[in-house]
Amino acid sequence: MTEALSAPRGTRDIVGEEAIAFAEIEEAATALFAHYGYSEIIAPIFESAELFTQSVGDDTDIVKKEMYVFEDRKARKLALRPEGTAGVVRAYIERSLGEGPGGVTRLWYNGPMFRYERPQAGRYRQFVQLGCELFGSSSPAADIEVIDIATRLLHRLGVAVEARLNHLGCRNCKRDYAAELAGYLKGHMDALCPDCRDRLARNPLRVLDCKVETCRRITASAPRIRHCDSCQGEFAAVKKGLDRIGVPYRSDPTLVRGLGYYTGTVFEMISSELGAQDAVLGGGRYDELVESMGGKPTPAVGFAVGVDRLAQLICMRQDKAWASSPVPYIFVIAPSSPHGSPRTLSDSQLEAIWFVHALRRIFEKKSRTEGAAPEWIAHEVSGRSLKAGLKLADKLRASFVAIIGEDEAANGTVLLRHMANGRQEQIAVRGIDEEELANKLDEWCR
Ligand code: AMP
Repeated sequence: MTEALSAPRGTRDIVGEEAIAFAEIEEAATALFAHYGYSEIIAPIFESAELFTQSVGDDTDIVKKEMYVFEDRKARKLALRPEGTAGVVRAYIERSLGEGPGGVTRLWYNGPMFRYERPQAGRYRQFVQLGCELFGSSSPAADIEVIDIATRLLHRLGVAVEARLNHLGCRNCKRDYAAELAGYLKGHMDALCPDCRDRLARNPLRVLDCKVETCRRITASAPRIRHCDSCQGEFAAVKKGLDRIGVPYRSDPTLVRGLGYYTGTVFEMISSELGAQDAVLGGGRYDELVESMGGKPTPAVGFAVGVDRLAQLICMRQDKAWASSPVPYIFVIAPSSPHGSPRTLSDSQLEAIWFVHALRRIFEKKSRTEGAAPEWIAHEVSGRSLKAGLKLADKLRASFVAIIGEDEAANGTVLLRHMANGRQEQIAVRGIDEEELANKLDEWCR
């Protein structure tokens, strides 16, 4: 295939068990967020480029090197969103979402993000993040709530991760620390990568986030932040709350996040099963962002989980039976007649269309009202002979086969066959309503 017709570098098609894992994640998140009172927000995938420059920070890798920026036909400078928080904050301000009862707004989102990164396993140029934002509370209780949700979500999906926790300090702690860190880094100027030399001049804290090995070695022995009494108290309160509800974490003074807007608590969850790209989830407090983007001063905290990496972990789980190909429950065959035209329908094919439709309505209702798992009612639509149809049903491991041949169509019956034990019976279906049919099937398929 020519390059133009292949999926663009860093993107992929999510199919099979991975697609099932994506759906499982969305289902678990939808249920969990409902318990915690979060409403879903579906924000645009592209926004004005300036939104991200202002919020994520023009000195971050994400904005400087990784953003997909383009002009539309009216020369507006737009960007594919590289992360979710900026758009949610924009919507929070623009739609006055903070004016609800109680002054606290809880939102969650799920959707694709775009970063022009060097692709490798677990790192893509289009990837999905699912996250939440809690606006309007500066209490450690809010930090504890979102860390608890993150932990619960991963636990519910059977994924084991380790949570790392840090506190970036308030403006004053940060200012003093930046000066101390800059002093230390200047002593190692020659060994820093060119980007970090630039960061050192603009925002020395960013150097702590550099992935280049020589820079990492230098920052490993860099001085650590010294929190003021208030920050110390806040960090202790977050940890105390997490201890009280049994959420495990590890304090990690080297943890800084790659986005510019964080203040106070930051956290990350990593998995030892993922290789180089081991971060599954990241989040933290961003108390100055809403105001810096033109809103009222509003403390906030949130996280984003990488759905692609989470799906990868789910696919590694032991209980993979759920993810195998779908198996038909009833496989309906109306064998083609050797004389019929493939472009018209025989009487038996028409009866099969009615029968399949009735079965699907019955089983769809069953799963809606009784919570039964959805069953695949398969329809052989490619005009196979009876022999070839049965062979396919067997290969697909169908539980039952329903055959509607010329005789069945003529006398208003269907031949049901139990594939495992070969038991078969002709049941009358002409003129019966769906309820009666459902009862017959219940009896027969038991
Ligand atoms: P961040 O927005 O950088 O804090 O990332 C939050 C989470 O999104 C990470 O922990 C990853 O799981 C996921 N993530 C970030 N970048 C990528 C990427 N390029 N490809 C796949 N997942 C990513």
